[in-house]
Amino acid sequence: MTTAQENRVNLLDFDAQAMTDWFAAQGEKPFRARQVLRWIHRFGETDFEAMTDVAKSLRAKLQNSACIVPPTPIRDSISTDGTRKWLFDVGNANAIESVFIPETTRGTLCISSQAGCALDCSFCSTGKQGFNRNLSAAEIIGQLWMANRLLGADPDGERIISNVVMMGMGEPLANFDNVVSALNLMLDDHAYGLSRRRVTVSTSGIVPAMDRLRDACPVALAVSLHAPNDALRDKLVPINQKYPLVELMAACRRYLERAPRDFITFEYVMLDGVNDQDEHARQLIALTRDVPCKFNLIPFNPFPNSGYGRSPAPRIKHFAQILIDAGIVTTTRKTRGDDVDAACGQLAGQVVDKTRRTTRRTISLTEVRS
Ligand code: SAH
Ligand code: SF4
Repeated sequence: MTTAQENRVNLLDFDAQAMTDWFAAQGEKPFRARQVLRWIHRFGETDFEAMTDVAKSLRAKLQNSACIVPPTPIRDSISTDGTRKWLFDVGNANAIESVFIPETTRGTLCISSQAGCALDCSFCSTGKQGFNRNLSAAEIIGQLWMANRLLGADPDGERIISNVVMMGMGEPLANFDNVVSALNLMLDDHAYGLSRRRVTVSTSGIVPAMDRLRDACPVALAVSLHAPNDALRDKLVPINQKYPLVELMAACRRYLERAPRDFITFEYVMLDGVNDQDEHARQLIALTRDVPCKFNLIPFNPFPNSGYGRSPAPRIKHFAQILIDAGIVTTTRKTRGDDVDAACGQLAGQVVDKTRRTTRRTISLTEVRS
């Protein structure tokens, strides 16, 4: 970025409210903010000169004071199963990843919220790399903006990306304000116009932030449960030491009062011999008795030196059956994008760790393997 650009405001950072406020501060009417919002997000325009229904004088003004700068894609990999993964440069030797998963009835984009993650879940590749920083709203929504462009989306055509899940790198609720700005844009009819049911935030269970999300922008919620009791969850998902299961379940019930779906999705990674025994399934049934929920079992995706193994398929099937027999809708996630390291928990990007957890600079798994 040139110095001239650095002094400009990146309009990708603004949701509708922030855009209106900024335009008001420039002495411009709210409808101008909406026009520009549409150009940016519906039509993917970055050049103010091309915004033909915006007054010429305003275009010139914007040229001097604003810019539209998405994160730069630095790698684009396509899996044999059609899953597509992008690596985006977010500056200072950090990179984040997004994954597009095409299916017959929908297209899902999985996006990142942070460069790294501070929460250090023991089975997660992102967590093992440490944490660098929160992504800006522009970097979060920029992943959707850029994926639409790279997939060749036509604003008047059928949606290629019909669903967005915040299940990439980072803990979305630890970057609350920027994530909510990006969510607002996903839902805004002048931007992406997705329904709340088609936008999912996945959290490891930061209880106060779950309440804030319920009040600010209640989209569909997935909670990374991964263990049926505190002793085990304290080890696998360390944030549990701060917000134990009884508090997490109560927060799920509160969230459901406003949620767009009448259930919480519990994600449960299947770790061989660790959390995959019949007894664990029975404990889960008791734990979630008062929380309308579905379970999504995720076969563990290995990464170098993780120290865990994936539960064998028959074990996963049996575990699922125990939950199903108790009346809980349970699905097992298909592992997709393995060959480009795009499966859950394999998103490594590139994180310059700022915590004391790791001192080495970790590079992308894809780089390690290729
Ligand atoms: N930080 C958020 C969202 C990102 S992770 C969260 O933890 O919910 C998205 C999902 O992938 C979470 O359920 C996470 O626990 C899971 N996951 C992490 N590492 C994994 C791995 N190696 N194999 C399978 N799933 C994994
Ligand atoms: Fe962070 Fe989620 Fe990975 Fe845990 S599972 S370390 S919260 S990204």
